[in-house]
Amino acid sequence: MDLILGQVREVVLMSEKRSLTSLYRRLWLYPQPTGENKMDDEQYGTKDKRGFWKPHKLIRYPDVFVWPPNIIAIAKWLPKYLFPWGVTYGLLALLVWSFLTPSVERMQTLSFDWVALIALRNIVLLILIVGGQHYWLYSKRAQGTSFKYNRKWPDGKRADGKHLGFSFGTQLRDNLFWTFCSGLPIWTTWEIMTLWAYSNGWIAGLDIAAHPFGFALLWFFVPFLHELHFYCIHRLIHWPPIYARVHKIHHRNINPGPWSGISMHPVEHLIYFSGFLIYWIVPSHPLHFMHLGLMAGLSPAQGHTGFDRIVTGKENSFHLPYYAHYLHHRLFEVNYADGSIPLDKWFGSFHDGSDVSDDALKLRRKKMATKRAAKRATK
Ligand SMILES: [Zn+2]
Ligand SMILES: [Zn+2]
Repeated sequence: MDLILGQVREVVLMSEKRSLTSLYRRLWLYPQPTGENKMDDEQYGTKDKRGFWKPHKLIRYPDVFVWPPNIIAIAKWLPKYLFPWGVTYGLLALLVWSFLTPSVERMQTLSFDWVALIALRNIVLLILIVGGQHYWLYSKRAQGTSFKYNRKWPDGKRADGKHLGFSFGTQLRDNLFWTFCSGLPIWTTWEIMTLWAYSNGWIAGLDIAAHPFGFALLWFFVPFLHELHFYCIHRLIHWPPIYARVHKIHHRNINPGPWSGISMHPVEHLIYFSGFLIYWIVPSHPLHFMHLGLMAGLSPAQGHTGFDRIVTGKENSFHLPYYAHYLHHRLFEVNYADGSIPLDKWFGSFHDGSDVSDDALKLRRKKMATKRAAKRATK
């Protein structure tokens, strides 16, 4: 009780001083940075020539996608593919389908009550999962800048001091706006349409009891199909006319945080969540497309934390394998895929974090600039 009264007193005192920022900082939800989990990250990485932290280990694709098959490489790759994220989102889908989704009979008719319930469930999931990561890493700054690629905290400006043009003045407000006003409704609409179609038998279902092997096989391929779809649409939205009007909003996040994950233009949301369409064609169970929906809606948060590792104890940390996507945000024309399939390697846009890749990118940019100049000259 004393603690609550103490907080109330602080709020009153601060509001008397009319210092809104200090007022926020005094609240529990916007705590003072603690840095309590700081860890020496020098044993895992070092600063590059531009002052960004980079891991010693280069990004590598296992030899899984080679012919003839390499059994040992597959055995090593499999646990990394499944754990922790494949299994985590698969289990979350099971939980959400079993306890937080209305019955098939109820979903046969579109009505406000169950639609609102699904929207509310997705809001809560976003707040808990994305908000939780933001709270820990950016509000509480629990590990300071240990393992943070960009040592600067996002301030809405580029290195040269120019504003990045975020809506509503700050990166956080901008990200929250695009996530809740566009991402959430579009994700939820795709999910509702798919559940509605499934409940009415308009799309082919997959009975677990009758086809357990088919069910397991498709479940295994959910993250794979998600990445394949993401790569295709990502290449599409980097086409200059679409990039300038649509994808630019996401790329303002050159120093991303968890809320940058699905901070996108509505057109990008429409295309990004269209992965649900795969399950309109492939016979599936709701556990498959809900797995996809949860991965698409929530997992970008962990891919945009801007940290390489989460510190969990004095000498312990947990690796987040998303350096490739961080490099995409910094360098734009590299690493369009998510990291499981070597699509960038096959199509010449792979950057493994090394100086050699940097030089290759510079050369590629030079060639592109020459090509553009030649095109302009012939016009
Ligand atoms: Zn992009
Ligand atoms: Zn991104």
